[in-house]
Amino acid sequence: MNDLRIDRVETVVADIPLRRPHRFARAAMAAQPVLYVFVRTAGGVTGTGEGVVPAGPWWGGESVETMQVIIDRYVAPILLGRRVDDLHAIRRDIDDVVAANLFAKAAVEVALHDAWARALGVPVHTLLGGLARTSVPVTWALGTEPAPVVVEEALGKLDAGLHHSFKLKMGAHDPSADVARVCAIAEKLSGVAGVRVDLNARWDRLTALTHLPKLADAGVELVEQPVPGDDVETLAELNARLPIPVMADESLRTPADALRLASRRAADVFAVKTTKCGGLQASMEIAAIGAAAGIPSHGATSIESPIGTAASLQFACAAPGVTWGSELFGPLLMAEEMLVEPLHYADGHLHVPSGPGLGVELDPAQLRAFRRD
Ligand code: MN
Repeated sequence: MNDLRIDRVETVVADIPLRRPHRFARAAMAAQPVLYVFVRTAGGVTGTGEGVVPAGPWWGGESVETMQVIIDRYVAPILLGRRVDDLHAIRRDIDDVVAANLFAKAAVEVALHDAWARALGVPVHTLLGGLARTSVPVTWALGTEPAPVVVEEALGKLDAGLHHSFKLKMGAHDPSADVARVCAIAEKLSGVAGVRVDLNARWDRLTALTHLPKLADAGVELVEQPVPGDDVETLAELNARLPIPVMADESLRTPADALRLASRRAADVFAVKTTKCGGLQASMEIAAIGAAAGIPSHGATSIESPIGTAASLQFACAAPGVTWGSELFGPLLMAEEMLVEPLHYADGHLHVPSGPGLGVELDPAQLRAFRRD
């Protein structure tokens, strides 16, 4: 238990079936591929992390397959023989060998936190400075069906007390038709639920200037990443012009990005993902930069399975700056639980577990059932 030296690193790809296909502007998926990373100590403690991207490499260039190669071939040799609590030095040494690849690094970094916390018998949030809150609100992702069908789904979730705000993906269709559909939904839900839209960096400046004001007029409460990630100038312009907050996602990967967005007032809300940001420590730094600039953070998702969701939940409950709720709905999209004990969703919130490490246990039988050979 007390020997913290790493003696084994293992990676396993699993394809977890979804309840319904999930669509993005440029991709769709019927199953979510995830890479589980297991880091074992000589003391017999195993930490688990999850490498996951939304529907393949379109978002940031990484996939479960690239992550597996990077970790097996380049990161594992750095880890072997090191203590799991040598965390910051290990992160630096990984950065010396592997540039970018933040999703892969996140999977490893979360596994190190899980192993370290389990060896100490404490939850991961203790390693992050303790809890700022014990649960986070969870926005639901609505589908791409016609407006009446989507409104009915949203009203059902509201009536059941499951979710109080909703996120719609845009950018896959002709902008005029897309905007008409979303405006119809937002107008129906106006006053009873929050509606947010995510363009996934799909529009250019002129399209955004033409169409975003209509969404604001229809009652959309927030617009996420309308323009490409590197176009921070246009993001700042839109943020200044629109009466509703602009949230940065594709533009925000690193603490340096956070500082740049804050100093240019290019976003009113930060979408922080433990995955795209390279792990828990960088996510804490980004949320702290946001808080210092008066920019709240949102616990965003790459459609993690319950393991990655538990990691994101530990961060979202530990970081004081995560005051703009979450979209940690990944497990609710999945047809399989994957855990021995499910995560606790109730009253529109996801509640942080109190057990050691991430506070959840991967179900070995389900891992066997869905692992890719
Ligand atoms: Mn997004």
